[in-house]
Amino acid sequence: MGTIVCASCNAMIDTFDDEKVSVLFAQCPSCTGEGETKGEE
Ligand SMILES: [Zn+2]
Repeated sequence: MGTIVCASCNAMIDTFDDEKVSVLFAQCPSCTGEGETKGEE
């Protein structure tokens, strides 16, 4: 199972089906605040 985690507060945002365990970092709505903020590093 894959997990999507907020890179700012480490909250689990969502999960997705995957053959292996993996973690993707994103930003939860609480951390993005003002809608779409593209600040991927
Ligand atoms: Zn967050």
